[in-house]
Amino acid sequence: MRDIRAAVCREFGAALDIQTLRLAAPGPGELQVDIDAVAICHSDISFAEGAWGGPLPAVYGHEAAGRVAAVGPGITAYRPGDPVIVTLIRSCGACPSCAGGHPVRCEGHSAPEGPLSDADGQPVAQGLKTAAFAEAVTVHHSQVAPIPESLDAEAACLLACGVITGFGAVMNTARVWPGANVVVIGAGGVGLNVIQAAAIAGARRIVAIDLSEAKLADAETFGATDGVLATDAKPHRAVRQLTGGRGADFVFVTVGAIPAYEAAPRYLAPGGTMVMTGMPASGAMARYEPVIFAAAGQGMVGSLMGDTVLKRDIPALLDWHARGRLKLHELISGRYPLERINDAIAASKAGLVRRNVIVMGADAA
Ligand SMILES: [Zn+2]
Ligand SMILES: [Zn+2]
Repeated sequence: MRDIRAAVCREFGAALDIQTLRLAAPGPGELQVDIDAVAICHSDISFAEGAWGGPLPAVYGHEAAGRVAAVGPGITAYRPGDPVIVTLIRSCGACPSCAGGHPVRCEGHSAPEGPLSDADGQPVAQGLKTAAFAEAVTVHHSQVAPIPESLDAEAACLLACGVITGFGAVMNTARVWPGANVVVIGAGGVGLNVIQAAAIAGARRIVAIDLSEAKLADAETFGATDGVLATDAKPHRAVRQLTGGRGADFVFVTVGAIPAYEAAPRYLAPGGTMVMTGMPASGAMARYEPVIFAAAGQGMVGSLMGDTVLKRDIPALLDWHARGRLKLHELISGRYPLERINDAIAASKAGLVRRNVIVMGADAA
């Protein structure tokens, strides 16, 4: 047990509260990691607003980097001091999904009791299996991946969700081929990574669609070949023109907005696939015409956390970054101390940021 400061959600929709909690020592197969940096992901905001329910009080935060503080029994691959990223991908390694190479869809049961409690000994939920809006976390070893000493934590933490969600959607779920035409709806934290990945995959046209001119300009610096405003009278017509009249082989929906989901099929080429990474609130419904999907041989597929396999995908991303092909630092728009996490969340919701990062020990000024 040790005391840590954490940003606690006690009521959906209310500001997070910085409190001192108790964090359990790592048990068998677990590690404790001191968090150096944790990014604000849209999923954290949706949870804190109550979009998907879940127990309270809770600590969210799942896009983190830091150093191993302690290892539990049976852990030999890590030692205290090792720099790592921490993700929400917890996998048992033995269920049909894990054995089939899809740890993101692990069917194993997670521990009923998390490692967090408050000063009175009452349990506090480990949100997103991580609870990284805190000075330290205790997590299963499968949730951790090593990073080099040379990569700073505030850039590395982005690999834990935003980057792998975008890259994995392109590389693992869609398997975008060289010469494919790609549309990316939403040029935010995940969308910019879909764009960088589509460029590495050799896509022909990469068309970003967003409500903001500033974000379309951003998208071009990450590799988009074109930008179309979602508020144009006929954005699908613009996409058809850019793609030789065919439409896109892949349409990535990277935002959780229903209008984005309902517009997406209109951008598809014959045989095209809509790839769904944006997460609307539970119960939200979208409408589309099944006859068009059936007649045009089109499809839709969900992509959670980019169907990432940490041990396979993180080393590749680190190499691309080292060779200058994958932007990380450029994804950061603001740095905040933990005490100002509510400001970081408010700025993220305002929509003009790429990723805001909480840097532990940063100046509260
Ligand atoms: Zn996330
Ligand atoms: Zn499993």
